Amino acid sequence: MKVLKFGGTSVGSAERMRAVADLVRRGGRNVVVLSAMSGTTNTLVEITDYLYKGNIPGAQETLNTLEMKYSGVISELYSTDTARARAAMLIGESIGYIRALIQGEFAVAEEREILARGELMSTAMMNEYLHECGVRSVMLPALEYMRTDSNGEPDMKYIATRLGRLMDMNQDADVYITQGYICRNAFGDIDNLKRGGSDYTASIIGAVLNAEEIQIWTDIDGMHNNDPRYVEGTRPVSRLNFEEAAELAYFGAKILHPNCVLPAKLNNIPVRLLNTMQPEATGTVIYNMPPDGSIKAVAAKDNITAVKIKSGRMLLAYGFLHKVFETFEKHRTSIDMIATSEVGVTLTIDDDSRLAAIVDDLKHFGTVTVDRDMVIICVVGDLEWHNRGFESRAVAALADIPIRMISYGGSNYNISMVVHKDNKVEALRRLSEKLFD
Ligand code: ADP
Ligand code: ASP
Ligand code: MG
Repeated sequence: MKVLKFGGTSVGSAERMRAVADLVRRGGRNVVVLSAMSGTTNTLVEITDYLYKGNIPGAQETLNTLEMKYSGVISELYSTDTARARAAMLIGESIGYIRALIQGEFAVAEEREILARGELMSTAMMNEYLHECGVRSVMLPALEYMRTDSNGEPDMKYIATRLGRLMDMNQDADVYITQGYICRNAFGDIDNLKRGGSDYTASIIGAVLNAEEIQIWTDIDGMHNNDPRYVEGTRPVSRLNFEEAAELAYFGAKILHPNCVLPAKLNNIPVRLLNTMQPEATGTVIYNMPPDGSIKAVAAKDNITAVKIKSGRMLLAYGFLHKVFETFEKHRTSIDMIATSEVGVTLTIDDDSRLAAIVDDLKHFGTVTVDRDMVIICVVGDLEWHNRGFESRAVAALADIPIRMISYGGSNYNISMVVHKDNKVEALRRLSEKLFD
């Protein structure tokens, strides 16, 4: 059994939904994870934004536009009036549910309930369409089995038991459909796996079912060797190992949610990145591949803040870094990159919500400087230190660009360089020219 996940653009219109249904039917008895139709989660976020600001008419108007979009898709997608009526009823339920929430008390619980409707709507429509095509598709409601524990981590035992039970009860299914992204938390309340989290859902399901493969179907033919949103002429990378994929996903390759790699890696399940618009393309396969001595790809992570602590006390002293790290831990802020010298240390963070308090505490240990609006540029591949020349080529590519810090040797898989956001696109382009052309 395989797990097939289709992202927002893959189910973004009636035409795209038909194409997905075709792929799903041909694939056999698999578990199919769907995202919300593209744009829907953003619209739902917009509605919750209005509600946080107490702008009820704004929320209502946005919901009305969303409702119209869905009625358009319904009239186009189905060919029988019966299917159209059933789909209209199911979508109407979700729209009505949001409408009721708009009128009531609003806080974080209601926000999450609203955000969950996107995946509930896309799966309801697809399930109905498959039925219309004569496919026995069975819905596995994510809110009945997908759950996180008190640390916000997936509760794998609970998920395995509940999902197994739901599948056993429906053994005659041709295919199973389920929602990506949404879950319940440790309190049993509706929650989600954060933006882009449908990839994570697919990987969690793949792990608990010990699936043969996890397929992430999207709008591009695999992981490209640079960010196609900023660089022209990028090419798909045919093979990656789990570590390389994790580095790329974490450092900005949007095609894959960073959390998606670990469950697949732990269970040694290959992850294949495929293109719904070009299903015959080979895409990228991520598996336990042996080192091959090559640079695979470049990615960039935005909104980075670099924090420097300079102190004479660091010289020949022990325990200094411990105090620095403890400060970040106290403020529950994770560190991405580190560069040290005998008289100072610079760290980068991407969540600056507690920056003021962190800086305040760090001032006990030395002089603190903050550089905002930075970007981490990450070169990923088999960069085992005995392989020669990779670092020099990466650094040479950025010869005319000011580099704030460099990190290499932390793992065998990356060289990371911090630059100002104004130099990001230029840095990505130059790296493509130097490393791949
Ligand atoms: P989905 O809605 O299917 O989850 P996403 O928008 O999350 O799709 O991810 C696909 C997008 O990721 C692509 O359209 C592409 O613009 C972007 N992307 C960023 N970096 C890369 C990369 N290195 N390789 C491929 N796609 C990338
Ligand atoms: N619909 C959610 C989002 O837009 C989850 C996903 O698409 O992966 O973030
Ligand atoms: Mg995505």
